[in-house]
Amino acid sequence: MERQAIQETKKMVDRCNKCGLCTTSCPVYQQVLIEAANPRGRIQLVKYFLEGKIPLSKRFKEIILTCLLCETCVVNCPSGVRHDQVFNDLRAELVKQYGLDWKKRFVFNLLTNEKLLRSSMVFARLGRSRLIETLTKGMRIGNIPAGKLPRVNPRPFRDRFNGVIRPDGEPKGRVFYFTGCFTNYFGADVGQAVVNVLKQLRVEIEIPAAQDCCGIAAILSGEGDLPLENVSRNIAVLSRARVDAVLVDCATCGAAFRKEYIALLKRKGMETAQAEILKGKTFDVMEYVAERLGELPLPKDYKGGKIRVTYHDPCHLVRAQGVSDAPRKILKALPQVEYVEMEEANTCCGGGGSFQFDYPEISKGVTEKKIACIRETGARVVATGCPGCRVTIGGNMNDHDRIDVLHPMQLLDMALSGKMGKW
Ligand code: SF4
Ligand code: SF4
Repeated sequence: MERQAIQETKKMVDRCNKCGLCTTSCPVYQQVLIEAANPRGRIQLVKYFLEGKIPLSKRFKEIILTCLLCETCVVNCPSGVRHDQVFNDLRAELVKQYGLDWKKRFVFNLLTNEKLLRSSMVFARLGRSRLIETLTKGMRIGNIPAGKLPRVNPRPFRDRFNGVIRPDGEPKGRVFYFTGCFTNYFGADVGQAVVNVLKQLRVEIEIPAAQDCCGIAAILSGEGDLPLENVSRNIAVLSRARVDAVLVDCATCGAAFRKEYIALLKRKGMETAQAEILKGKTFDVMEYVAERLGELPLPKDYKGGKIRVTYHDPCHLVRAQGVSDAPRKILKALPQVEYVEMEEANTCCGGGGSFQFDYPEISKGVTEKKIACIRETGARVVATGCPGCRVTIGGNMNDHDRIDVLHPMQLLDMALSGKMGKW
């Protein structure tokens, strides 16, 4: 760690008075019940390491990595300890000492090379053939049956457009829609819903084909160098774009632009001024739409049946960006929806990016609690603004659950187009 970073991290861990208020709500601690694996224990271990009392041993590495980075501890700490900052600094240190495992390096190399990513999707598309599906029947990736993993879009979502989508008539605004890799390669239905709604708001939408992966998966794994080119390009292009807002449909891309880019650049002792501009321009698409809900032609005299919907708060939206009202405002405004709040809506789903594949036993317990809360509502749909959460929750549901997992923008689009009643 750089000398300045060590001083900063040391100051942060010294804030801990060991009160323990962060411990009981830690979803990992609730599963493993080991003091060293709760936020207080981890902070104390980092303190001892920085004081030179313990080495960065393999056991210490496991403890630091067995964390969902859900930030529940951050919001529960009265002393202002930023566990996320401390743990990310340590992850960067771990990569320096131990390197990254080859599978992660392979995936991050793909994600940070758009050409390579694009061509790999051609093979992934072929991989979903009937033959391969028969061969992989019964296989699981972490806790998720292979057959429940998302299907690759027939063609990349961004290829549907010529860069700019103009509304009929004079535009009321201009936005940049950063689709992220997930919508581009797996979630075309979400992307189309976003475009349909923004068009109804008479907004001009810029979706250039050339967008780089936000790189957050690598950043949060402690590998800050690999995504640095993507980060610099995204910051340069998006912060200079002449638009009212940069919109994202993915909680994690939003967290990258609003939080993690600045943290990474600071960690590397680099300039952050442009990244601050991008932070100021970035909004989750639900925030943007929730402020303009009154301009949308939602049916006023709907008399049909209602569909029960509940909402799960993604960690990267509720804690990393402080967004929780906007999705609820949208869902409650839909005349065809009966909105029901679930217990512990803002508790982590247990996905944590690759955490669910690295530590499936711990992840399983966390996800099962989340799914139990969803089931208790009797909802037919659970909505959430994070593709990772949708994969984790949807992939861990039982077949007899009959609960769909959707982005709130898909429900809004259906409500506007009259498809909800027919569903
Ligand atoms: S970030 Fe979440 S999982 Fe990690 S220590 Fe904090 S509460 Fe526990
Ligand atoms: S809540 Fe904050 S001060 Fe209290 S033990 Fe946890 S990290 Fe330390």
